[in-house]
Amino acid sequence: MARIITLVILLISLMGITASFPQTPSSDTTIRYIARSLDRFGEKAVAQRLLKDYFLENRVSLQPLDSNEENAYVTQDDSGQNVMVITDNALEIARSEKLIAKRPYHSGSSLLTWTLTVFHEYIHMDQIEPETIPKFEDPAWQATDKAIERWTKILDTELAAALAKPISATRKEEVQQILDAIVALKSELGTFDNDVLNGVKNGILSPGQKWTYLKSLANLRDLEKKAKAGMTATAPPATTTTTSTPPLKPGEKAWVRVSVKEYNDQPSGGNYSYTVADGNAQMRWSMGTDTWHFTCTWDKPPRVIRKTDKIPITMSIKVDKNVGESYSANGAFVLVWDRPEVEPGVTIDGSLLRGAKGEKSVLNVTHRMGVAPEGPVTVFIDGSTLPNGMDGAQIALLADVYNGRSSGVKYIYEWKVPD
Ligand SMILES: [Zn+2]
Repeated sequence: MARIITLVILLISLMGITASFPQTPSSDTTIRYIARSLDRFGEKAVAQRLLKDYFLENRVSLQPLDSNEENAYVTQDDSGQNVMVITDNALEIARSEKLIAKRPYHSGSSLLTWTLTVFHEYIHMDQIEPETIPKFEDPAWQATDKAIERWTKILDTELAAALAKPISATRKEEVQQILDAIVALKSELGTFDNDVLNGVKNGILSPGQKWTYLKSLANLRDLEKKAKAGMTATAPPATTTTTSTPPLKPGEKAWVRVSVKEYNDQPSGGNYSYTVADGNAQMRWSMGTDTWHFTCTWDKPPRVIRKTDKIPITMSIKVDKNVGESYSANGAFVLVWDRPEVEPGVTIDGSLLRGAKGEKSVLNVTHRMGVAPEGPVTVFIDGSTLPNGMDGAQIALLADVYNGRSSGVKYIYEWKVPD
């Protein structure tokens, strides 16, 4: 952003800007990539306009500029219409076309800088008296600030969709491209803060304006983390559901369920009670005139889990009854792998299950009025994340439910050849 500066180019208009600069295959390519990039960030109208202004109207040109300070500016031609001049440094887009075609926002690509520059300059294209500062720059910078916020949101949506896909080489490529764009946009914001401060100091921008770029920056940092985590996600198992997994070969070992224990011993005191079963737990609590009942449900875990299995389990909580506001109470529903001796409500070596987007197998619920329970969420029993089995080794999957007291169901699995 540092280079998306002001324009104010009286000198240049004296030099006779209107002399049309030749369009070359390189400049054509450059403009096409910028337009495609604008389009990719949802700025379709600006993209269309750029193509029209460059290819048909001769209102956008690439030229060598003396100053290294500016990427582009808008000025008026002889007939008094606004025209945009982009420095021919932008031709590096055409020069690195091979890379950009594959990884548009790779760190070796400047495409995002030019996309943002052109977007900014198009605010100026609709302004008259381009030399009026800051009346002139405030709207352009504000529009750029808002565009960054929108583009960040688009990347957020794209990333969530990409990460929700099953792990594959294609998904990795997709996440990589989004990560490139996240990092590129973040680096544009690296100097935005300074540019705004300097702009105010130098009388180019009005003081006291509201900006969203700091929020965008925080969001982009967060997205970068998520994307990086998504990139390093482990390679796909051959199959992703129980139904499509081939049968075990004779003698082949797996994690085999050897017991299901439902914890239905009731706590003393009478305020709490529950009924738990495989896939279902009804939790009840009352105190004075307050009553709070909820039901947790989960898909019954499979009998056999092999290393290559990835079995979806959907967890949800439904509030059955909730009256009174005299007391507070909170609850939770957790699926967790742990050692076989563990009881509900206790963790020794717990390991949560994860969803396609990294969601954890934890849902919270509260007696507080008007607050819906969390979820539902779909997480996976992922055989590749389970320990390497040795004969007779056991692990436990716990459905932990809590309403002030703990209960649940424990599934013990043993590494062996299924019966
Ligand atoms: Zn400007």
